[in-house]
Amino acid sequence: MKQDHDALHMRTLSELRRGLRSGEFSATTLTEALLERISNAGGALNAFITLTGERALDSAVIADKAIAAGNTQPLTGLPIVHKDLFCTRDVLTTCGSHILDTFVSPYDAAVVERMGVAGAIMLGKTNMDEFAMGSSNETSYFGAVRNPWDLSLSPGGSSGGSASAVAARLVPAATGTDTGGSIRQPAALTGTTGIKPTYGRVSRYGMVAFASSLDQAGVITRSAEDAALLLGVMAGFDPRDSTSSEEPVPDYLAALHKPLKGLRIGIVQEHFDEGLDADNEILVKAAIATLEEQGATTVEVSLPNLNLSVPTYYVVAPAECSSNMSRFDGVRYGHRAGNPVDLMDLYCRTRSEGFGAEVKRRIMTGTYVLSAGYYDAYYLQAQKVRQLISQDFKAAFEQVDVIVGPTTPTPAFALGDKVDDPITMYLNDIYTIGANLAGLPGISVPCGLVGGLPVGLQLVGPHFAEGTLLACAHQYQQLTDWHEIAPGDFA
Ligand code: GLN
Repeated sequence: MKQDHDALHMRTLSELRRGLRSGEFSATTLTEALLERISNAGGALNAFITLTGERALDSAVIADKAIAAGNTQPLTGLPIVHKDLFCTRDVLTTCGSHILDTFVSPYDAAVVERMGVAGAIMLGKTNMDEFAMGSSNETSYFGAVRNPWDLSLSPGGSSGGSASAVAARLVPAATGTDTGGSIRQPAALTGTTGIKPTYGRVSRYGMVAFASSLDQAGVITRSAEDAALLLGVMAGFDPRDSTSSEEPVPDYLAALHKPLKGLRIGIVQEHFDEGLDADNEILVKAAIATLEEQGATTVEVSLPNLNLSVPTYYVVAPAECSSNMSRFDGVRYGHRAGNPVDLMDLYCRTRSEGFGAEVKRRIMTGTYVLSAGYYDAYYLQAQKVRQLISQDFKAAFEQVDVIVGPTTPTPAFALGDKVDDPITMYLNDIYTIGANLAGLPGISVPCGLVGGLPVGLQLVGPHFAEGTLLACAHQYQQLTDWHEIAPGDFA
């Protein structure tokens, strides 16, 4: 199908910003066009849990008045959708779970609040793996999300609704969260751009916690330029999150033009060991060659403990999850089992009914590794290995400015394919989890197609090197058009 580049849904956030400001179209026209696109083209994808059309149209009227008065903020009139684990005042926040399927937060998450203050218009909340635990979006209580490149495939997870909606040109941008790869992996599998910032760069206030020492908010967009625009709004110190960083926020849009000449790119030998699809490897290497043509140099580095990142993560993340999930007890939030005979019965039945299988598996694993007698053998040991993994990255970043490699081992896989085999599912995050364990920023950009399916290139940098990652991604996108190719049925 021929791509209609004039259609509003085909434009990037930056293009829409120019159109709104020049008066080419109004925020109301844009909002109406996207709401229509979501209900028509979006129907088959199951990318949304909640739509907030009426409220969006009210906000669009306010945005149009602001634009007419010349009183614009960075995102005035621009559409955004939020992963359904960011709390939104007066709008459902379900986390893809039965236990929260009636939960309405009394306040906005910091990310939602900042985007709102910057003038963005929320169109809805996106589907996700339950409490962000998953890599395929199949753990959602609201059903799996479909990949617009092929509806029988998974869009990845856990931010699969956000990735699917952006890839299908339903919306130009969406928020996501990344605990072990949940922004970068779905971005890779849907041909979108996804950035997970440094731990502490974006406030976690109002973001429902999964594994607090790993969770970080970011965005999924159609270009690195759009990611830079949004990250500039989201990032910054927030006293309501004790792990939020006071590091000043640079001008990410200005940083996009930083030349690649002299940039030292680390190639991790362990990335190209067994497990990586041969076709993915070819595309990743071609992308690295493109960066070299711009004057970047490559250096071989080693992350010798990379193969321990998945097992380490699956001790640390469940441990933290088992503690975070204890607040869902049927007393204060969401679902409550009917007619309890006593308090224990209330807890047991609420949690048995409310949580899905994957969340239960994590709670049990987490409780086990934290229990007396096993703590030293599992949790403490995992914390030590986590340190080793961080040190490996630190040593690598003494030699290079950025590490470039694959985001995932394969392109998108079929829905149902890995759902009964948690270990195979967990291995999908082999290249992404290290950055979470070490708190580092990472971005995935589309770098080609294999059998008609997108493949992602991952760039990981030292702490607070988002500007370098965005510059590198942006300049790669100036030289290639992989990020501009829409899935055939959604062009
Ligand atoms: N797929 C990983 C998991 O299941 C990571 C999820 C995430 O980043 N939220 O835990």
